[in-house]
Parts: sequence; C-alpha cells; structure tokens
Amino acid sequence: MKKRILSFLVMFLLVIQLVPGFAAGAVQLTVPSEFSIDGNTSYDLTISEYLRLLDTVHSGIQAELDAMCEGFPHFDSIKPNDGCTVFTVTVNSTALTAEEKAAENRMYEMRDQMAAYLAEDNNGIQIDYKTQNDTLLSSSKVGVSALLLLEEAQVSAYQSGSPSKTSSQPKTTPTPTPAPTPVPAPTPAPSNSETTCSYILNKNTKKFHYPWCKSVNQMKEKNKWYYDGTRSSVIDMGYKPCGNCHP
Ligand SMILES: [Zn+2]
Repeated sequence: MKKRILSFLVMFLLVIQLVPGFAAGAVQLTVPSEFSIDGNTSYDLTISEYLRLLDTVHSGIQAELDAMCEGFPHFDSIKPNDGCTVFTVTVNSTALTAEEKAAENRMYEMRDQMAAYLAEDNNGIQIDYKTQNDTLLSSSKVGVSALLLLEEAQVSAYQSGSPSKTSSQPKTTPTPTPAPTPVPAPTPAPSNSETTCSYILNKNTKKFHYPWCKSVNQMKEKNKWYYDGTRSSVIDMGYKPCGNCHP
C-alpha cells in the first residue's frame, strides 16, 4: 500500500507539471468528454482527494480485470501497474481463445481511462503473459493500430462460429432511450455486477453500452439488442464494456 501511495505521488508530481497555474495543495483535473457525459469537465481537488480518486479508479479497474478472469478459463489473474501501462496476465494455458486474446483491447481501454485521470496520453500498453510459476511466456505491445486488428479478428471469429452462449432472443420492439443520467466523473461507482440494468448490446462488435451512450446512435438497428440483466450476465455472453460509457 505504501508503495502504491508513493507511485501515486510520483504521478501527482507529473500532473502538477502538466497543469498551468497549479496552486499548492490543489489539483486541477480535466476529465475529457469520453469519460464524462457532461463534456470536458474540470475539477479542483485537494491532494488527498486526488490520491483517493486515483485509488478508486485503480480498484475499479482491478475489479473489472478480476471479473474478466472469472469469465475466461485460461486466465488466472491480471495485475496492472499503478498507471496501467503494464498488465501482467498469469495464464494456465497458452491456448487462448479469440475472446481472451481480444481482452488486450479492454486493457487498452482501461489504460485510456487511467490516463484521463493522470492527464496523460495513452501511448499504448505492454502486456506480459506469465505462467503460474512466474516464467515470462511473451510480451506484447498494444497500441491503437494493434487494437484495430484485434477487433477485426474478434468480429470474424464470432461470425465464423456461432455465439452459442446467447440464450435469449433480442427484443423486437425498441425501448425508448432514457435521458442521460449525469455521472459524477471523479468518483466512479464500483460496478455492482448483481444489479439488473438496461443495456444496449451490439451484436456485431460484441460491445455493450448504457442506453445513453453516444455510440448507440451510430449503431445499426439490426445490430442492437435491448437487454435487461446483470452486468456479469452480459460479460458471460462474451460481450465487452464500451470504452466510452464504461457500463
Ligand atoms: Zn458506450
């Protein structure tokens, strides 16, 4: 824990260099519009509030990674470093499924989320795959171009094999899209996977969204699946949370 606080202090020092007009004892944080439905939003936080916020974001990311491991049979654990630039994946087999391989995509999105709170650019991530006895199997760099290839590979994998885990049929009558619910960006609520929620699933990209997400408007109607259920049930069907609305 002490190590983490120290690392956050290092990040904090980076941030204060990035923020012009920095006043002692306060952090001005601008969260970009992708992570706040109110558009670019600036917050003035005390140092302890800021460190607590980073810790909350980090815990939220770790919880998502733990949930991913539960759904993927060949993953034992995924541990990010403090800034989410390096993810260490412990695997029990090298025969990863297409969905497991595409998890790199989600880790990249998690780095994007962390980078927003650190006022940094996402210059890509490193993913180290290790065995259970800590032998490094491989290391991959994931940037935007690698991601696009991963997305394509995942979509074609789904198109060639039937998504057999899909158990219920999409509703044919679209439900009205509720008005956006403002989400206070600096305190992401820990996702409760047991709460039933309305989601829009994209049957083509295998991503799922909150109904208010701007990506939903760009989606073809035939790809939309209006789904009410728990977050974990959506993930169990092989869907990944959107990087914009973070459902
Ligand atoms: Zn979305």
